[in-house]
Amino acid sequence: MPLFEFVCAACQTPFEELVRSSEAVKEVVCPACGSRQVRRQLSTIAAKRPSGSGGYASSASAAACAPGGT
Ligand SMILES: [Zn+2]
Repeated sequence: MPLFEFVCAACQTPFEELVRSSEAVKEVVCPACGSRQVRRQLSTIAAKRPSGSGGYASSASAAACAPGGT
């Protein structure tokens, strides 16, 4: 069961929610204000990078030529 990060568009509160399916995403509400105007963040997936050297700027080109790592 994937854990997604959301940000409430109404009160800007970031939160995490377990979502079973794409249908369940529509049922997600903000825990702070109850608004359904939430946006799913993709930072969890994007954050998957090898630890160690490299930065936000250089990691993009490095990942392009090293898909599996060494
Ligand atoms: Zn909210």
